[in-house]
Amino acid sequence: MPLKTGEQFVDSLRALKLRVYMFGERVENVVDNPILRPSLNSMKATYDLAQDPRQAELMTVVSPYTGQRVNRFAHIHRSAADLVSKVRMQRLLGQTTAACFQRCVGLDAINAVFSTTWELDQAKGTHYHQNFLDYLKYIQENDLVIDGAMTDPKGDRGLPPSKQADPDLYLRVVERRPDGIVVRGAKAHQTGATNSHEMIVMPTINMTAADADWAVACAIPMDAEGVSLIIGRQSCDTRKLEDSPMDTGNPNFGGMEALIVYDDVFVPNERVFLNGEYEFAGMLVERFAGYHRQSYGGCKTGVADVIIGATALAADYNGVPRASHVKDKLIEMVHLNETLWACGLACSYEGRPTASGNYLVDLMLANVCKQNVTRFPYEIIRLASDVAGGMMVTTPSEKDFRHPELGPVVDKYLKGVASVATEDRIKIMRLIECMSLGTGAVGYQTESLHGAGSPQAQRVMIGRLANLEAKKALAKKIARIAD
Ligand code: SF4
Ligand code: FE
Repeated sequence: MPLKTGEQFVDSLRALKLRVYMFGERVENVVDNPILRPSLNSMKATYDLAQDPRQAELMTVVSPYTGQRVNRFAHIHRSAADLVSKVRMQRLLGQTTAACFQRCVGLDAINAVFSTTWELDQAKGTHYHQNFLDYLKYIQENDLVIDGAMTDPKGDRGLPPSKQADPDLYLRVVERRPDGIVVRGAKAHQTGATNSHEMIVMPTINMTAADADWAVACAIPMDAEGVSLIIGRQSCDTRKLEDSPMDTGNPNFGGMEALIVYDDVFVPNERVFLNGEYEFAGMLVERFAGYHRQSYGGCKTGVADVIIGATALAADYNGVPRASHVKDKLIEMVHLNETLWACGLACSYEGRPTASGNYLVDLMLANVCKQNVTRFPYEIIRLASDVAGGMMVTTPSEKDFRHPELGPVVDKYLKGVASVATEDRIKIMRLIECMSLGTGAVGYQTESLHGAGSPQAQRVMIGRLANLEAKKALAKKIARIAD
């Protein structure tokens, strides 16, 4: 059975020789680093839940490629039901971690590469799909995490890759050898990079013939020669170094992002899935983005379940659970969140098979889903902050709370309803602070806005798929206007 336990997953990360930098220094022990460990715990939850017999049906699936039960995060969707199970799994993990659990990018990458390489081979007589199937089996048999590395730094946004002042601002092929290719460049905002064994590099935009050297997709081990990771800061990240877990708001879980730099990295031919066929870059981008826009209808709703729960607790602890405006704000939060869930489910149920046989979400509905995700979490957070009150940002530190003289003073004056411990009230305020202004805000807010493509990217897709001509024809018919 290829499924790893959570502990085996952690051990497998220890065996990697990652080149990681943070605060200007090399991080030798990535696994136990206090800033990074919560993000590892979130990824570990994808392994732990797969071991839970109650979640086995949701978290695992028998692979048609290996004949063995594998983690759903390494599965090629064979039906619309698989797409639905995917978002259910993501909501569960969002509820479990209240953070980005990072493994979805790889799942979305393998499904996009699966169908794109199949169609590319049909059109061009290449053999990328077989390369990919061999790689997929390796991933499934070893229960590995793949980072989906798409976002290039992009330099001047008004120029294509081939016109950039610095050609490395989009990852590119700098050398073609008989046995493989050499790539150079970077990928930005890479979610879960330090908790991934592998990554699939993909182009980030549509390309033309002039951009052929930038039209590249391939698989690279995270600890390959020439790969380095520079960790991105998160607001309030150094609270994790203060030995005051209460002050972090979500002491056990979190997310992480890194800038990945590729300094002339060699990729053998059998790990290459696109190499100069620029006409297929757009298909790969569009499909990956479609899957990841679906993903947000799962993960963000699970995270918001925790935020809504924290808000309801804050109301209880503040003594106002029966105030009609508080009840109405909680209802509004639930309404917004379930609207996102409805979009995530809808684009999954409406999924259709691609020519290669795997299932793709309904792209219109997936883009509508993500467009709503760029807005509703901000309103949910506004309402959470409204109900919580100013204490969520003005509460003294855990060190004050534990102090022999200051502690009793803080305890006395930060008390809400008499039956609730002040410590519990502070913990809930800190959790809301974390999700709205601290480390959790990266995953719940900015990532909701820009992850899987910024709002305008969805509007372009919605515009392209809108089929206004068909709607005009409907109106003409009703109004009895002759063609
Ligand atoms: Fe998964 Fe959501 Fe994180 Fe993307 S943002 S990797 S969908 S948990
Ligand atoms: Fe994301």
